[in-house]
Amino acid sequence: MLSDIEIAQQVKMQPVTEIAEKLGIDQDDLELYGKYKAKLSYDLIRKVEDRKPGKLVLVTAITPTPAGEGKSTTTVGLAQGLQKIGKKVIVALREPSLGPCFGIKGGAAGGGYSQVVPMEDINLHFTGDFHAITSAHMLLSAMLDNSIQQGNPLNIDPRRIIWKRVVDMNDRALRNIVIGLGGKAHGVPREDGFDITVASEVMAILCLASNLHDLKERLKRIVVAYNYDGKPVTAEDLHAAGAMAALLKDAVKPNLVQTLEHVPAIIHGGPFANIAHGCNSVMATRTALRLADFTITEAGFGADLGAEKFFDIKCRQAGLAPDACVLVATVRALKMHGGVAKADLKEPNVEAVKKGLPNLGKHIENIFKFGVPVVVAINIFAQDTKEELQAVYDYCAGMGVNVALSDVFAKGGEGGVELAKEVVALAESGMARFKPVYPLDMPLRKKVETIVKEIYGGDRVEFQAKAAQALDQYEKEGYGNLPVCMAKTQYSLSDDPALLGAPSGFTVNVKNAKISAGAGFIVIYTGDIMTMPGLPKKPAAENIDVTDEGKISGLF
Ligand code: ADP
Repeated sequence: MLSDIEIAQQVKMQPVTEIAEKLGIDQDDLELYGKYKAKLSYDLIRKVEDRKPGKLVLVTAITPTPAGEGKSTTTVGLAQGLQKIGKKVIVALREPSLGPCFGIKGGAAGGGYSQVVPMEDINLHFTGDFHAITSAHMLLSAMLDNSIQQGNPLNIDPRRIIWKRVVDMNDRALRNIVIGLGGKAHGVPREDGFDITVASEVMAILCLASNLHDLKERLKRIVVAYNYDGKPVTAEDLHAAGAMAALLKDAVKPNLVQTLEHVPAIIHGGPFANIAHGCNSVMATRTALRLADFTITEAGFGADLGAEKFFDIKCRQAGLAPDACVLVATVRALKMHGGVAKADLKEPNVEAVKKGLPNLGKHIENIFKFGVPVVVAINIFAQDTKEELQAVYDYCAGMGVNVALSDVFAKGGEGGVELAKEVVALAESGMARFKPVYPLDMPLRKKVETIVKEIYGGDRVEFQAKAAQALDQYEKEGYGNLPVCMAKTQYSLSDDPALLGAPSGFTVNVKNAKISAGAGFIVIYTGDIMTMPGLPKKPAAENIDVTDEGKISGLF
């Protein structure tokens, strides 16, 4: 069995100019980054703006388990399947972070015969967007500390600075640091810390901005600290937004690459799915919708986090109306939700599948609440048995939802034809009546309660003092109309990672809240969310190498 990178390196890519041609993109509208990568020009984005959008399909998943679900793989495979049945399609994905590449996960560009390429480039640096985001973020950090150094005209309270620093690396030693040591000429000493770049608010802003102008306006609104009177200090107060936007002028342009079967892929932006909304950029999705008849996109984690934020934050802000949703499940993951340990997943166990199915059921019910029709895709693994698959069919039939087997990991687009046909039927049925699950004029606490009760299946929310105080303050400051961005464990519908399946009757504990005024949401912390991961005992980086000819190995 070949590894993902071996499969990817076997395929002969088409020049990106040919991929663009398929979409009717003029060569002048491409900014080439070598032979196989290009950015789409502002001119193109503007030119196609008034076109009628194609169908928007979201790929999401049941609650993730260590057994793996394969959302990206299914997203890419579905797009290849749609191409196989003659549809004009684009896949819109997030850019991977360097962090997970060198840590545990390996890359994030799909798997098997459903990948985006050149996968080494996409996983490592790509077109430099993350570096630009890091630089823009760090410029704001430097200007903030410089302002304090130069007499502190904004009266910034150094104990109430909320803007940390970022780097695209999992480096736990940088989580908590002291800066400004060395005496008067070297800054004002204070506690600080680093997050990984994907956790930067600049990343979320880049992904939600509708154009360069909007990007700049959002950058201005970033709250970096509070002054001694308790008033917010923004990036605009520091006169930083213009230079930050200048650093981002190319990073905001979506990147065009291809899948292993030469389906156009737009890969752009990659915000965290916990403290941010976890979707590729609005500019990428909007442009894709105007270049193809079908845009297949993905949201991070399970549907309780990824799809909820895709719908309530991204679609609402960007005026997008999804036409269909694919809910990815695996028999292995269902067995885990049914109580089977990871080591025993190879054994057939229909009863455990049945016990795990309510997790799938809850996510189906949730997607219906957003008014979006859904099909379940079973991402097939070699050891799945007929009886286990039948249990999923029977359960979904009971909920009035179709199931399609997806064998795109092993077979590429051919293995995604069944799913593609289901998706076309669903998206063209006109059944979608998209609506967010809460209105923006609802008080912040009530928004959180609505998500907990409607989406997670919980009974109550408890707001700890710090959280309650922060939410009151945000409402007083005029931020009450923002959507909430839930930072919760991805491993359970509840805030307790040990509660698998479809738990009910639980209380969600809100520990803190933090404003991302530029991105345009209030982050709700239901636990300690890691925004700077560390490397594991044996980092994936130890296996990565490059030959003297420049060929990369061991990325997976
Ligand atoms: P997600 O997007 O849900 O995180 P990915 O699509 O990135 O998941 O897949 C996670 C890992 O599982 C990848 O390494 C991928 O190659 C592997 N994988 C996905 N689907 C299958 C499958 N059907 N059989 C074997 N491995 C798979």
